[in-house]
Amino acid sequence: MSAEESRTLGFICPKCRQSVIVERSVFSLTAAPMRIACPCGGSYLQTDYQGDRFLLEAPCVACGGRHLARCPSEAFLRRKALRFTCGKTGLDCCCVGEELEVFRAVKHMEEAADQLKERGEEPGSFLNELVMEEMLAELRDIAKRGGVRCTCGSTRWRMQMEYAAIRLTCADCGGALRLNAATMDDLNDLCCQDELLIQGNP
Ligand SMILES: [Zn+2]
Ligand SMILES: [Zn+2]
Ligand SMILES: [Zn+2]
Repeated sequence: MSAEESRTLGFICPKCRQSVIVERSVFSLTAAPMRIACPCGGSYLQTDYQGDRFLLEAPCVACGGRHLARCPSEAFLRRKALRFTCGKTGLDCCCVGEELEVFRAVKHMEEAADQLKERGEEPGSFLNELVMEEMLAELRDIAKRGGVRCTCGSTRWRMQMEYAAIRLTCADCGGALRLNAATMDDLNDLCCQDELLIQGNP
C-alpha cells in the first residue's frame, strides 16, 4: 500500500446540518487516531486504527447521538464504500470509501435527513411512506418473476421493513441484503434491478 493512497470520509453534522467530506491519506489514518471536526465545532468523527480493525465514532444527524462502529481494516481501507448505519433510525450516518461513492452516500444522507426534519415529531412507521410503498410493490414484482435469490443457492427468503430500509434475509443461511428505502433515488435504484442477490453466509 503506497503512502499516496487515500480515503474519503463523510458525515453530516447534527449541529449545523452541513456535510463534512474530507480526504485523508491511508498513511495518516493508520499512523494515529484521527479526529475530523465540522468547521462549526459542533461535532466530529473519530477514527482509531488498531491493526486488524478500525474503531469509528461518528456523529449521527438522524438521531442526534453518536455511534461507535468497528470494522476490519481491509474493508475500511479498500472497500468502495462503507456505510455506517444508525441503529435507532436505520439511516446511514457516516461513509468511508472512494471519493465519488462517499459524495453519493452523503447526498443520500442529506436527503434522508431533510425528510426526517420535515416529518418532525409526527409519528410514523416509515421515514418516507411513499417510497416504502412503491419499493414494496417493486419488490413484489421482482419476487413474482423469481428475481430474488441468495448466493447460497436458496430462493427462500423473508422480508423485514425497517424505518428507512427493507431487509431481505435468506431463510436458509441467514444472509442478508439491506435496501435503503428513504429517497426517490432508492426507489429508482431498485426499479433498474432485474434481480436481487442476497449475500449468503458461508
Ligand atoms: Zn457543524
Ligand atoms: Zn443515530
Ligand atoms: Zn442463503
